[in-house]
Amino acid sequence: MLPLRFTQRRFPQTKLFLTSYFLSTTNNHRGSNLNQPSSPPPIKVLLTETAGRGVFATRTIQPGELIHTAKPIISHPSIASTDNVCYVCLKIVTKQSGFQAQEVLFCSEECREQAKGFYEVEKEADWSAFVAHCRTRGLKYPFLAKRLACMVISGVASSDSLDILQPAHLSAEMISQMKEELCLLRSALEDSGMKDEQLTFLNIEWYAGVLARIRINAFRIELAGNTYEDLLALAAASVESEAAVGNAVYMLPSFYNHDCDPNTHIIWVENVEARLKALREIEAGEELRICYIDASMDRDARQNLLSNGFGFQCNCPRCMSND
Ligand SMILES: [Zn+2]
Ligand SMILES: [Zn+2]
Repeated sequence: MLPLRFTQRRFPQTKLFLTSYFLSTTNNHRGSNLNQPSSPPPIKVLLTETAGRGVFATRTIQPGELIHTAKPIISHPSIASTDNVCYVCLKIVTKQSGFQAQEVLFCSEECREQAKGFYEVEKEADWSAFVAHCRTRGLKYPFLAKRLACMVISGVASSDSLDILQPAHLSAEMISQMKEELCLLRSALEDSGMKDEQLTFLNIEWYAGVLARIRINAFRIELAGNTYEDLLALAAASVESEAAVGNAVYMLPSFYNHDCDPNTHIIWVENVEARLKALREIEAGEELRICYIDASMDRDARQNLLSNGFGFQCNCPRCMSND
């Protein structure tokens, strides 16, 4: 998610063409079925005059139309969901139906295969101190950084994978907290026999840069496709259970700007694959915007949350009309 105010100074325009690379659209039902993404999707990413990058419609988009889908760059289950969801795609699985590998579950052979990109490294290390640290402090984002670190070590991701995203401003206090997390992350990997040269990227500049981007770009994943039984199983599994099955960072969905009365929303049906859908008719050339927060809050609460959480003051038409 991209704060409206702080965006202009840092983005080289040359990176904008990356957009189509991160779309996972695979079929050709061009506009024929509102539940199938059209290919190519009817959007482009442009630099706006006031809000940095934004996503714009290239043709009229129908209400309810699935604009595109997106696969995450990184995802991770919440601590409470680890025993109930796929370690890769966050789909709800049971120990009976999934493939169990040591402490984690995979929903399918495909996810187990995909996990090799990080799990071969991760499973060699003892994460108990790192997990305990995050659990007592209620931290969820270090898990995404841990996964990215393991992907970099495995060679399936580059250490600058998130650099294109907007970073949050970090206070000195946040950075000193991050140093503790990094220390635990590094020790776990070092103690597993990882060599120094494999961990050269893993310094505080890298870690703080990754966390700064995760902080304002991570989406909290709540599955809309849950059955009632799934929800009961999740709730019964843990007293610390919450509605979110995990968190994930995406590329293209992060380019959508915020609006308190959005024309687009992002949903997750059965796993971490994001679906961007039109909430109303959108004209060609119109900017597509999503709401980063709970739109039902009043104006002051929204302004506070956007300012503290995302670092910008919202000047959307709804806020300007004091609604
Ligand atoms: Zn899966
Ligand atoms: Zn607003």
